[in-house]
Amino acid sequence: ASFASLGVSADLIKALNENHIESPTEIQVKTIPFLNEQDTDFIGLAQTGTGKTAAFGLPLIQKIDGSKPYVQAIVLSPTRELAKQIAKQLFRFTKYYPEKIFTEAICGGDKIDAQIEKLKRPTQIVVATPGRLNDLLDRQAIDLSQVEYVILDEADEMLNMGFKKDIDRILRFAPKERHTWLFSATMPEEIKQLIKQFMKPDAHKVE
Ligand code: AMP
Repeated sequence: ASFASLGVSADLIKALNENHIESPTEIQVKTIPFLNEQDTDFIGLAQTGTGKTAAFGLPLIQKIDGSKPYVQAIVLSPTRELAKQIAKQLFRFTKYYPEKIFTEAICGGDKIDAQIEKLKRPTQIVVATPGRLNDLLDRQAIDLSQVEYVILDEADEMLNMGFKKDIDRILRFAPKERHTWLFSATMPEEIKQLIKQFMKPDAHKVE
């Protein structure tokens, strides 16, 4: 398969190739065409380092409306390092994209006042660690009312790190009509519960 055959636009492919990403990985082949064509919930069983970020990031970019200045997608990540990597990758992917898509990383450990200022600019995608995103919700510094996509990356790791309560609260804040995409390397009982509680019963599952 090629990225073009998966439905990835030429301007995105140009940026991928510049980053030495030439042909899709297995998870990308299984995920990208599905997310491009369907608007349902999605569960992907995937390890780190398999190209997961592009697997959800490329379809996500193509679904975001850059002409609208508000947050349309939230990506939750267990660590600040991962959150920053994801934001950086999304930024790189959009280098030749015709619409400006702004991604902000919101991580614990960074200065919260600076984050609040940054969020006053048009921002379509927020990549966040769950604790810090909740701090911003408490301060009413972020509006999730227009969020259409919530991506839970490394969901098992987030639960291992004790973010269950934060995740529950964020998912309750996000609109009901949203789509939830969950990625996890393992499927323990707590993840199954999270899926049951917050995702649609017809969620598409890929291993
Ligand atoms: P991820 O699993 O998304 O953290 O990606 C791990 C690394 O693989 C990152 O440095 C990506 O830039 C790279 N990568 C992602 N997709 C591909 C691909 N199709 N071919 C080569 N490298 C890739």
